[in-house]
Amino acid sequence: MASIFTKIINGEIPSYKVAENEDYLAFLDINPNASGHTLVIPKKEENKLFDLSKEAYLSLLDFSYRVAKAIEKTIPCERVGMSVIGLEVPHVHVHLIPLNGMSDIQFTKKVTLKEEEFISLATKIANNFE
Ligand code: 5GP
Repeated sequence: MASIFTKIINGEIPSYKVAENEDYLAFLDINPNASGHTLVIPKKEENKLFDLSKEAYLSLLDFSYRVAKAIEKTIPCERVGMSVIGLEVPHVHVHLIPLNGMSDIQFTKKVTLKEEEFISLATKIANNFE
């Protein structure tokens, strides 16, 4: 069965996209730890990060680097943190999270954003993506 992220790639489930190319998609996490919390996924569905070929792994990190730079330009924060978990959604994804403290990377404290806030954040990050 297709993962929920494959459904996002196929447009069956809506998302707030921030960057996309032939192989990768970046979009806002729907239940963010912090404003600007973004997920970067390969379009080719794979369960675990370290099941990727080394080439695919490095390529995913390369795309994530560019997305992180766009987040840094957009969201005032101490730094952008990166985490890979995958216990909820078995489709490789890199979490990129604007951090102002440890609690922002612990997946316990969540922020609630309105639809217009998601749209505005996604647009601003997308405009800073190079
Ligand atoms: P993990 O698998 O790394 O533990 O967490 C999966 C992440 O995906 C969570 O942060 C969760 O909020 C996010 N997520 C789950 N379903 C959706 C969805 O349908 N849309 C978006 N944008 N994010 C989702």
